[in-house]
Amino acid sequence: MPPVSGVLPVSGTGLAVREPAGADELYLVEAPLAPVPAVLGLARRVAVAPDGGPVGWESLPAADLDAAALVIRRAWIGDVIATDARCPGPDCGERIDVSFGIGEYLAHHRPRRPRGVAEAAERGWFMLAGSPVRFRIPAVADLLAVEADPRPGDALAGRCVEGEGLSRGLARRLDRAMSALAPGLTDLVGGACPGCGRPVSMRFDPLGYTLAELRGVFGGIHLETHALASAYGWPEQVILALPRSRRRRYAELIVDGRSVA
Ligand SMILES: [Zn+2]
Repeated sequence: MPPVSGVLPVSGTGLAVREPAGADELYLVEAPLAPVPAVLGLARRVAVAPDGGPVGWESLPAADLDAAALVIRRAWIGDVIATDARCPGPDCGERIDVSFGIGEYLAHHRPRRPRGVAEAAERGWFMLAGSPVRFRIPAVADLLAVEADPRPGDALAGRCVEGEGLSRGLARRLDRAMSALAPGLTDLVGGACPGCGRPVSMRFDPLGYTLAELRGVFGGIHLETHALASAYGWPEQVILALPRSRRRRYAELIVDGRSVA
């Protein structure tokens, strides 16, 4: 059985992520998809349940798709995310290294059941005690359904919340309950500027970050495929089916061979 690469925090679903092949890399580099369908497509290609069975991606909580992106990223590149920000101080502008671990980030955003929230009779639905409000955690399928809507937030609430004309207080309670049960993984990260000491924060969006990083890392796929096809005469399909590490090793050998000749 494949090793477990990580557990999605809200649903508790385990994921086993395999090494990417060239076809997976090409999918990411060439697919002009929005972040949700792009990561969903990637996850479907490379991740299965720990028993090797399929994952019911569309019924997973939306927040778990963000976690899946980070679990895939950790399996392929490692736990530590190192990025940078610019100090916004008008007289500073210093570059600030921002670095954190994916495990630590997921632990920090662990879900919890808030007080005053109870499970409703219907599976997957919750109730706010002392109110007529019923709600469920938005699933990946809900995100896909509202994607083209001009007001996706309202459309999502329409699908996941029942209760007419919420008072402002009740709406706040509902918001808090939903983000405790399924904390969003887009959040601020940062630290203090080493130049001027100002606190600096930047928005970290797991889907956008992972896609941009992987598209960069996989940018050599065309060149490597071209090198293997030219050197060995293998068809494209055969080369794209190779695991990334083996294809890269061949590509290195080809480059080494040429420099020796
Ligand atoms: Zn500064």
